[in-house]
Formats: sequence, structure tokens, C-alpha cells
Amino acid sequence: MPIRVGIPRALLYYYYFPLWKEFLERLGAEVVVSDRTTKGILTSGVEHCVDEACLPIKLAFGHVKNLVDKGVDVIFLPRIVSVAQREYICPKFLGFPDMVKQNIPGLPRVLDTTINVRKKQQDIHLFTREVGALFNHGAIKSRLAYLLSMPTHFQYISLLEQGYLPEEAMGILKGKKIKENPVATDLKVAVIGHPYNIYDPFISMNLINRLRKFGAEVITADNLTEQMVNEGVKRLPKKLFWTMSRRMTGGALNLHDRNAVDGIIHVAAFACGPDSMTGELIERYIRRDGKVPFMNINLDEHTGEAGVVTRLEAFLDMLRWRKKAV
Ligand code: SF4
Repeated sequence: MPIRVGIPRALLYYYYFPLWKEFLERLGAEVVVSDRTTKGILTSGVEHCVDEACLPIKLAFGHVKNLVDKGVDVIFLPRIVSVAQREYICPKFLGFPDMVKQNIPGLPRVLDTTINVRKKQQDIHLFTREVGALFNHGAIKSRLAYLLSMPTHFQYISLLEQGYLPEEAMGILKGKKIKENPVATDLKVAVIGHPYNIYDPFISMNLINRLRKFGAEVITADNLTEQMVNEGVKRLPKKLFWTMSRRMTGGALNLHDRNAVDGIIHVAAFACGPDSMTGELIERYIRRDGKVPFMNINLDEHTGEAGVVTRLEAFLDMLRWRKKAV
């Protein structure tokens, strides 16, 4: 019987799931993903997590609990320190496996191997070796399994850069056909936020699909190439060393500078330190030029859907009115 490895549909699932899944399957695992977010999953996360944590961490707790309930043998929770050279990921990712181990009862084995490529990309093989050991594979076989999974990751990133959203890109990788948005679009709107906030339909109150339904084409920072993102952050006086903050800020500024969108919506999570800095930075640069309207949406476990929908409708009305007036 293969080892059943659970991956929470949370946090960096939206960037790395196709890669992690294929890597684990090549090692001989059966991969199980937690269910799509529901009120129950969020409530369970809030119950098990410390009050001070940000909303996405609380939600990730709920997804881990969901995997425990599914009876998986191992939960895949890499301790993510850095995914790019000379950059870091928010420290809450580093502490997440420990928080989970302390607070969720009845956990199976937690695979909390560190991912840290801050010094050099090849350090990823410390991670592949440790994961491979779980399946009794040596360093070379584990490294090979990882390298053979990389083309899928590149294909996934390329689909994102072609404008697909993570779930759509994952569907295409599985051979699904993606339906065109049946609504004609007359606006292009950027949605800027952490992937686990903007792509989770429950937590974002279906923000992206609502915008599409209201006739807007949606673009996110993940639909841009790394080069475009880096062009965007070039004009900042200092380098941003948080990978996701750099991607969000660079994406927003690139789209703004190229006049590529009619409006920008920044989505921030309650109790997120980096978001308070990134949101402020993006807003200052964008409002200073005054070229592109900007709106900020804060998400927490109590955010009311009706209020968000009203604000979205008003924002899109304003963008249309502005477009006509020019
Ligand atoms: S970046 Fe913000 S939202 Fe993401 S884990 Fe850190 S504190 Fe939470």
C-alpha cells in the first residue's frame, strides 16, 4: 500500500502543488489534498489556532485538520524559509509546522523538512533527500524524482503567465478544457494579494469570479513574468527581500506603469504584517501618480460578503464612468 501523503489546500499550495504532487508520486506516495475551503474548515482552523495568527494561517490549520480527518499517513508541511535566492518567506511559514504540532491533536507524522534556497538553488536537494528518505529512497533517486517533476512546474508557471488562474492551470495540466468567460469584458482589473487569499474562493468571497461576472478581465501578479515583476520593483529605493511582497508590489507597479489595467484591487489579510507594509507601499506609489484607481479590501473571518460586493460594484461603476469620461 502506498503511503498516503496529505497536502493542505492552503498557503503555497497555489504555487507548488503540481510540483510537490508529482515529486511525491514519483517517490511512490499517494497524494491526498484537503477539501475546498468551507465555513466548517475555517471554523475548525480558528478553533485550533492561536488567536494572534493571521487569517491564512488559521485557515491552513483548518485544512490540516481536514487531512487528519481523512486519515492520511503523513502530512506534508515543509518548513519554508526561502524559495528564492537572497529572499525570505514570511516567518509564519517557518513556525507553521511547530504551531500545528502543538495545537492539533491526533496528528499523523508531519513531514516538515526545511526548504531554504536563500544561499543557493541547489540547496533544494537537502529537502529532496529528506523527503526521499521517508520512502526509503537514496539521495540520487530522490533528486532525480524532483528533477523529473520540474518540467510540470515550468509548464504550470507558463500557464499562469498566459493568464490562467491556479485552479484553471492545474485543470489544464490534468487535460481539462477551460471554458471562456461567457460575459463580455470591457474592463481590465488587477487583483493583487497573497495567492492563498485571492485564489481561495471562500476566503476571498469569490472575488475573482465576481469581477469576471461583472464584466472585468482579471489579471494577477502571477500572470506576469518574473522579469515584468522585477521591472515593477526597480523604482523602489530598496530591494524587497520578502518574495511574495516583491511579487505583489512589482506586479502592481508594472501593470500601473504600463497602463495595462483600468483599476487595481489590493487584497490584505487581517493580522498580516507584510500586507500592511506592501499595501501601503503600493497605494502610495499608485495614488501619487493618480493614473489608476486603487481599492483596498481587508479580509478577516468576519468580513461580510454583502459589503464586499457593494464595494466591488461601486468600484467597477467608477472605472466605467472614468473610462467613458476620458
Ligand atoms: S505573509 Fe501575512 S498572510 Fe501570509 S503568512 Fe505571513 S502574516 Fe500571514
